[in-house]
Amino acid sequence: MMQERNANPETTTPEATIHPMTRKAANTSLAKRAISPDSHKAVLAGALSLEEARSLGRNAGPAGPAVRVNKNDRTPTKTPCLCGCGELVRRNFKAGHDQRMVTLAKAYVRGEADLTDEQMEYVEISGKLDRARTQVQKEERKRQEVTARKAEAQRRKEGREAEAKRRNAEK
Ligand SMILES: [Zn+2]
Repeated sequence: MMQERNANPETTTPEATIHPMTRKAANTSLAKRAISPDSHKAVLAGALSLEEARSLGRNAGPAGPAVRVNKNDRTPTKTPCLCGCGELVRRNFKAGHDQRMVTLAKAYVRGEADLTDEQMEYVEISGKLDRARTQVQKEERKRQEVTARKAEAQRRKEGREAEAKRRNAEK
């Protein structure tokens, strides 16, 4: 299971000589479980193309199906869902809970929540942290626009009231 949850491929794979973009794509593919950890290592080591890794799928590596290694691979231990809900799962997340990480990452970007090291690695590798930053910026811009519109409406209202007062005084 540790192998499957390999959340920090950078420290467990040999020094790569591959293109940084390929490395990034390989990390993303691993995070999205499009390739197996074995394939991921092989891609980073330059022994396998990412295309080949993808065609092997999430359960097979360059040397064959992942179940070959030892009995631990056949009976993976359950670990807590990464989102923090407490459910025990065989993968990083209970089904659908990976989407909660965007919400959590947004709270982190706003300074409202802390992430565990494991969660931080996941949101970085999966691109969810970038997505969260973009969404938070967008929401902040919208909020500022609404504030500006309200201020403008208030300014006009005060102008109208001042005008009405002036006319009353003239009567
Ligand atoms: Zn969960």
